[in-house]
Amino acid sequence: MPNRTRFLGKTLAAAGTAVALALATAVPAAADTPSTVEQDVAQLFQDVVDLYNGLPANALRGVDRLIDSPIPKIGPRARAAEDPIPGCTPGSLLTYADHLASQLDPVESGALSTLSALGQLYVQGVASDKTPQVFGTDGQYTARATQAIDKLRGFWDIESWNIQLIAWKGTDLGSQAKMAQTFSLGLAPAKVQAAAALATKVLYEVPVLQGGRNPLLTLNAFASPADSLGGKRVSLGDGLLDTVNALGFDEVSVESVIGHEYGHQVDFAHENYPRNESSEMGPDAYGGYFVAHAKGYAWNSRTQQEVGYLDAAIGDCYHSHGTPGQRKAAGTWGEKQATSQSNPNRIVPSAKMIEKFQKQYPKLMPPAAEQPAAASVAAARG
Ligand SMILES: [Zn+2]
Repeated sequence: MPNRTRFLGKTLAAAGTAVALALATAVPAAADTPSTVEQDVAQLFQDVVDLYNGLPANALRGVDRLIDSPIPKIGPRARAAEDPIPGCTPGSLLTYADHLASQLDPVESGALSTLSALGQLYVQGVASDKTPQVFGTDGQYTARATQAIDKLRGFWDIESWNIQLIAWKGTDLGSQAKMAQTFSLGLAPAKVQAAAALATKVLYEVPVLQGGRNPLLTLNAFASPADSLGGKRVSLGDGLLDTVNALGFDEVSVESVIGHEYGHQVDFAHENYPRNESSEMGPDAYGGYFVAHAKGYAWNSRTQQEVGYLDAAIGDCYHSHGTPGQRKAAGTWGEKQATSQSNPNRIVPSAKMIEKFQKQYPKLMPPAAEQPAAASVAAARG
């Protein structure tokens, strides 16, 4: 079992070292000497750091990621390394992502984290659902994603027309026009075109990025509140869907993840911003309620269990998003609220659901015995 904290620290240090080395050697080549890949990655890293530093103050506030991915982060939300919760086994999705990330060399890792951070800003601040959104690397999830957001808009009693559902695609990084719009969010105007050209250059000169199809580039989903850059939106990464598929949860992936992210919108609408794991476990519970409910997907008990195992697969061992056992317990609790109602068609008002979950939450904490079964079940399925 890889030690995630150590791995993260190591990767960050390695990426930093590579970038620093390249910067040190990046200078004054003669005008006709082409730059090396290391120099390109180092320059792009600096451009993206400058971009993040130039964003408006509220741009990223409240934006909630589904998981803490193993990719070193750029931007204000990077978290100091902490010790994992004793006795906790990370969910199978994080273990899988760690494994993918551990195969990268420092330059690849630097390119990947830089482009992933850039792509997230595109999705958050530039992309819009006025353009038809394509979900999955080959569009294979578009119909399911469209159906899920339509159902959710009708399910929860919150203002919903202005919540956009946006596809997060690594291949958008190959568009200089899109990257120029993204850099314009915070980089000095004179630098925008060169930075955009460099982003697409790096995307194609580092083979492991697969022109944007490396799942680590988009291995996440997130929800953004009204006052953040780009306003209310739910974003779903192709890399997350690919990875969830590889782990064997394909038949519930799109609906569960969008149901969870929309759950954050439910919390945002009621200004419910808990400063503990219930900020993630609440949306797990609301998502479970939605997929099991007669007016949601009315999934049967076997499929509900699969959702619970997916919740566990994204659990981590830090006091941030909930452990595998806690996330599964929260999702399962939500499902049970739907299946135990005397009138299966009644939808509990969102304010009431938040209140019910907050009452339940202390019982789901501290973690009961962890559930190593989650990882082995996924492995057996894969
Ligand atoms: Zn979340």
